[in-house]
Amino acid sequence: MPELPEVETVRRTLQQLVVGKTVERVTVRLPRIIQRPDDIEAFSLLLQGETITSVERRGKFLRLMFDHYTLVSHLRMEGRYGVYEAEEPLEPHTHVIFHFTDGTELRYKDVRQFGTMHIFPRDEDLQELPLKKLGLEPLDDAFTLDAFRKAVAHRTTRIKPLLLNQEYIVGIGNIYVDESLFLAGIHPERAANTLTGPELKRLHEAIVLTLKEAVAAGGSSVKSYVNGQGEIGMFQHQLKMYGRKDEACQQCGHAIEKTVVGGRGTHFCPKCQPRKRRRAAKG
Ligand SMILES: [Zn+2]
Repeated sequence: MPELPEVETVRRTLQQLVVGKTVERVTVRLPRIIQRPDDIEAFSLLLQGETITSVERRGKFLRLMFDHYTLVSHLRMEGRYGVYEAEEPLEPHTHVIFHFTDGTELRYKDVRQFGTMHIFPRDEDLQELPLKKLGLEPLDDAFTLDAFRKAVAHRTTRIKPLLLNQEYIVGIGNIYVDESLFLAGIHPERAANTLTGPELKRLHEAIVLTLKEAVAAGGSSVKSYVNGQGEIGMFQHQLKMYGRKDEACQQCGHAIEKTVVGGRGTHFCPKCQPRKRRRAAKG
């Protein structure tokens, strides 16, 4: 499943490939991808003649900005975008096709069919579901240590499920939560309100570092993740925890353990990420 770095990679790729293109018409082959408006003809009509001015992102949602509308697109499990010449044959599972006036097409493929698209009047999308309830954007300058502390420090929830909750911080999925908690030396089941000041600082730094490295590497994937240009992300080999059960921890050599936290498979090092906070030396 794409996480924030992968979606950011798709965003950057689309930004290069589709900005300035004008929609001639739209073909919707699987109506249930379209969540708003509730009529696929209206969906197509709204975008006819509209030019893409930029491609933005909020959490794991892509925002295709048109002259008068914003198209909010979530890839969910398997959604993929690609830009093709109109004469290229359609690949299986192509559900939505944006035909441009220059003879190219933006095609949306989705094997699992869980992806969604919403159209809103431009910029109104941030005040509406599904975007309005989203929390802090971890790659934004506004994601300061102070903002992070305010969002999590007083909560009694375990830290891993809290970090996965999009209402507090957006876009850090299962893989990067495990990596960040390892980097910060924090057990995934610690209650958020038991984290010390230095631990919160380490965790904040770890989240930013992990996501920035992943974005720089072009997004990762456990299964080969293909971005909008057909390139495969290269971050997987850099993952220190995820998918490495029973391998030696790169920091201490102890075997990496896998457990389930909040219903999610969770990798951690029991030595580097002790369940109980280390006590200060007795004096
Ligand atoms: Zn370790």
